[in-house]
Amino acid sequence: MEGLGEAARLVRGARRGVAFTGAGVSAESGIRTFRGENGLWKQYDPVKTATLSYFLKDPAVYWMVSRERWHTYREAQPNPGHYALAALEELGHLAGVVTQNTDSLHLKAGSQRLVELHGNGRTVRCLDCGASEPRSEVQARLESELPPHCRTCGGIHIKPAVVFFGESLPPAAINEAMGLARECDLMLVVGSSLGVFPAAEVPLLAAERGAPLVIVNDEPTPLDELAAVVVRGRSGEILPQIQLLASG
Ligand code: NAD
Ligand code: ZN
Repeated sequence: MEGLGEAARLVRGARRGVAFTGAGVSAESGIRTFRGENGLWKQYDPVKTATLSYFLKDPAVYWMVSRERWHTYREAQPNPGHYALAALEELGHLAGVVTQNTDSLHLKAGSQRLVELHGNGRTVRCLDCGASEPRSEVQARLESELPPHCRTCGGIHIKPAVVFFGESLPPAAINEAMGLARECDLMLVVGSSLGVFPAAEVPLLAAERGAPLVIVNDEPTPLDELAAVVVRGRSGEILPQIQLLASG
């Protein structure tokens, strides 16, 4: 496969590389991306389901869609791409993973240093009183309670700890991600359309500093021109090969 050898050589030489991942890395785990061929946006209107102002107006609509999607998230398992990234960290080539995903699959695969730029779906937090509880507990009452109420204050503004449109990114996460990008000696971009900002500033910063950019994606991205290597294809197939070649 074109670029594979060169990508592996760069990864092998890295001592504090950073992987920057998007929805594409989880596609082979059965979680659909937003954009791209089978993107969710062809089916749902993201503005209605994940925009803060819509959510506040009518949380029941959000929870109705989310109630169904949660089964997919809970049952999804990491694919060989997630495991390869965890192994590259273990081998000392990656300092960590910065992800835009909220699906917890890097965590399940064993990645140690993980920055979740867009939050995660494991926790539900009350926007009114700040109380939080595990998603599993909220899920259990969704059958009889739509929208679900906060157990502490009784309000209806409890929402998963994922970043909605109209919300800013958790400052600690963006700072940590930028710090990693500032120090990295390689940026491995996987399965991201690189169209969501400020997240995409993370690989951009690394590229501006002169760190080699390796892009693994099944379609072109806006940063391909800046990349040292682009490997086109499925990350669940490509990353294990890179890992094998880099550790051999
Ligand atoms: P995106 O949906 O914009 O882009 C995904 C990219 O991955 C596309 O370019 C697509 O062609 C590519 N791709 C699809 N399958 C692939 C595969 N098997 N191998 C390699 N590449 C593949 O994703 P994004 O850039 O992460 O931005 C989307 C936003 O949506 C993020 O903010 C994220 O928070 C959210 N999101 C998260 C999940 C998740 O947690 N798994 C799923 C959907 C959306
Ligand atoms: Zn509350």
